Amino acid sequence: MNCSSPLTAFGIVGRRCAPLFKKLGIATACDLLYHFPYRWDDLRTITPIADLGPDRIRAVKGTVQFIENKRSKWKRMALTHAVVSDESGSISVLWFNQPFLTKNLKQGDNVYLWGKIEYGDTGFQMTNPEYEKVMPNRAPTHVQRIVPRYPSTAKLSQKQIRFLMAKALPLASQIKDFLPAPTIRAHNLLPLPAAIRTIHFPPSPEKLARAQERLKFDELFLIQLHALRMKQALAHSRAIPLPFPKREMQAFVKSLPFSLTPAQKKAAWEILKDLQKQTPMNRLLEGDVGSGKTVVAAMALLQTALSKKQAAYLAPTEILARQIFTTLCALLSSFPLRIALLTRTENALQELPSKSPCSLSKRSLLSRIRNGDADIVVGTHAIIQKSVRFSAPALAVVDEQHRFGVRQRSFLARLSAASESEQIPHFLSMSATPIPRSLALTVYGDLDLSVIGTLPPGRKPVHTKIIPPDKRHEAYQRILKEISKGRQAYVICPLIDPSDRLGVKSATEEYRRLQKDIFPTCSIGLLHGRMAHAKKEEVMQAFLDNKINILVSTTVVEVGVDVPNATLMLIEGAERFGLAQLHQLRGRVGRSSHQSYCFLFSETSGKETLARLSAFAKTQNGFELAEKDMEIRGPGDIYGVKQSGYIDRLRIAKLTDYPVIQKARNAAHTLLKDDPTLKKHPLLQEKIKQWEQEIHLE
Ligand code: ADP
Ligand code: MG
Repeated sequence: MNCSSPLTAFGIVGRRCAPLFKKLGIATACDLLYHFPYRWDDLRTITPIADLGPDRIRAVKGTVQFIENKRSKWKRMALTHAVVSDESGSISVLWFNQPFLTKNLKQGDNVYLWGKIEYGDTGFQMTNPEYEKVMPNRAPTHVQRIVPRYPSTAKLSQKQIRFLMAKALPLASQIKDFLPAPTIRAHNLLPLPAAIRTIHFPPSPEKLARAQERLKFDELFLIQLHALRMKQALAHSRAIPLPFPKREMQAFVKSLPFSLTPAQKKAAWEILKDLQKQTPMNRLLEGDVGSGKTVVAAMALLQTALSKKQAAYLAPTEILARQIFTTLCALLSSFPLRIALLTRTENALQELPSKSPCSLSKRSLLSRIRNGDADIVVGTHAIIQKSVRFSAPALAVVDEQHRFGVRQRSFLARLSAASESEQIPHFLSMSATPIPRSLALTVYGDLDLSVIGTLPPGRKPVHTKIIPPDKRHEAYQRILKEISKGRQAYVICPLIDPSDRLGVKSATEEYRRLQKDIFPTCSIGLLHGRMAHAKKEEVMQAFLDNKINILVSTTVVEVGVDVPNATLMLIEGAERFGLAQLHQLRGRVGRSSHQSYCFLFSETSGKETLARLSAFAKTQNGFELAEKDMEIRGPGDIYGVKQSGYIDRLRIAKLTDYPVIQKARNAAHTLLKDDPTLKKHPLLQEKIKQWEQEIHLE
C-alpha cells in the first residue's frame, strides 16, 4: 500500500466509506492524510466518575453494569439506558434513538465513554456520549488522547474517519518533503511527515501547534513563492519605457482646480517612476472612496500619451466608463490628445482641446485605435474583445479592480496579444477596497502597492444614522430640506428576492411610491441595471445636471459615481449589505465641502444587525470597516478578496495568520534569490508548477 492507494484498499471500512469520502474530494490515502481536522478535543485525561461535574466534555473508563432499551415518555423516541461504574462510583448514561447500541454494548463490557456531563433526575448523567470498547494491549483510537474532529458529510461518522486515518497514518512517512532543508532549518519547522502525523493525532497541544505552523507555512509559502515568481518573470520581461514629461506634468498639476494631497503626490511619483522603467509596472493603487485616484491615474495616462503610446482604461460599468471619459476629457483638456470611449453601446472620440465628443461607428473607432489615432481608450470589458487591436499599448489601467477578479489578468494578456510588439504594457490596478496589509500581502503578493491613505482636505465626515421605522417621516423632511438648499439625494434599494437579482422590483416600487405619496413636487429619477443603456445615461446626466432631485437606485451607483452636489443618501434594507459595500455606497455623498448625511433603514431589528450598523455609523474609515467585516464575516467574504482564487485553497492557514505569512514571504524571497529557477530544488519546482496549474484551471 502507498500514498496513492485508493481508500478501497483499506479493508471493509475503506470499501464501505469510499463513496462517502469521494463527496469530500478524497480518493487516495494521500488525500485522506491531507484532510485536516477542524477541531481537537483534549480527552487525554480519564476522569474518575466520582469527580465528574457539569462542565466541558469529559472521558471516563468503566464497566457496563446494566444496559437496556426503553420507550421514552415522549412518543416514539427510543431510549437506551445504561449504568457504568469504575472504582470511584457509577453514572447513568442515556442515548436517544440509538437502539442498536445494545447489540454492541453488553453488561460486563469495559468501555471508554466521553461526552457532555449533565445534571439529570438521578444526579449527574452522560447524554449521548461516544464510546469505544477497551481492547487488551491496544491504546484506544478515539479517546485518551487529543481527539481530532473532521469536516464530514452526514453519513460519514467521526469514528469512521478516525479509524481510516489511523490506518493511513503510517503512509505519512512516504510523503516527500518539498521544502528545502535550509528553509526547514531556518524557520525551525517540523518535517512534513511528522507534521501530518501530528496534526491528526497530536500527543500534546504544544506539538499540535508546531504541526499547525508547519502546514500553514506550506500553504502560505506556496502562495508567496508563486507571487514572487510572477514578479520575477515580469522583471525579466520588457515594457516600453515612458519618459517623464516634466514641463507638461507641471502644467497639468497647475491646471487642476485643487492642489494634490501629499498622499496623491507620493502615489503619483511611485507610478510615474515605474512607467519610466524598461520592466513592466505591476502596481495596485489603493485608496478609500473619494480619495482622488482618478487624477493620479490621469497623470499616468498623460505620461503615456505624450510618449506617443496608447493607454487603455478599464471600468466595471458603462455609467462609470462614461463618467471617467468625461472627467478625463475635462482634466486633460489643455493637451492635444485623442480620448476614446468604447462600450457595448457607445463609440465616441474626443479630439482635445475641442469641447465635445463625437460619436463614431464602431468600425471606424476600432480602426482609429488600431492605427494609433486614439491615445487613451476608456471602456468596459468591450475593450477586451478580440476585435479590438491597439497599435502601441503601453499602459493598462483597471479601475475598481475588485469588481473584475481574475478577469483583469486576461485583460492584460489580451492587451499584450493585441499588439505586434513583444513588450508588455505597464499595469495599474485601482481599488477602493481598503484591505488590511496582511491580506494584501497574500491576495496581491505579486503587486507593488501604493496607498492614498488620506482624503482631500475639507471633507466633512458623513453624518450616519440608523433611523427607526417611526422616524421615517423625519428622514424625508431632511431630504426636502437638502433639496431646498439646492442639494440632491440618493435612495438606495436592495434586492428583494434572489430572483430579482438587479433589485429592479424594489427600486421601481419605491420610485413610484416616493413620487406619488411622499415627494409629489420633486423631480425623481430611477436607475437600475436592467434599464436600456441610453436611458441610464440620460438619467445619470440629468442627475449630474441637477435636473433630478432624488435618484432612486439599486447598487449600480455603488461604484465610483461622482456627483459632488449629492449630499444625502438613504439606504433601505441596510442589513442586507456588508460593511465594505455600505462604505462604498456612502462614498457617493460627502464629495464636496457641504455637510452630507447617510440614513440607514433596516428591515430587521436583531441585536447583531444593529451592532453591525452602528459600528458602520460610528466610523468613516474604510480600513477599520474592512477589519470589522473580516471579524464578523471572515476574510473570504471581504469585498474583493473572494475573487483572488487563492483563498478557497487554504485548508488550514488563515489570512489572519500574519506572523506565518511574513515568515513564508521571507523564506520564499531568500530561496528565490539563491535559486531563481528552483533548479536546485526539483521537488519544490514540481510542487509549485502543479500548484500554479491548479490556480490557472480555476
Ligand atoms: P476615487 O478615489 O474614489 O476614484 P475620485 O478620483 O473620483 O475618487 O475623486 C473624488 C473627488 O475628489 C472628485 O470630485 C475629485 O475632483 C476630487 N479631488 C481629487 N483630488 C482632490 C484634491 N487633492 N483636493 C480636492 N479635491 C480633490
Ligand atoms: Mg474612482
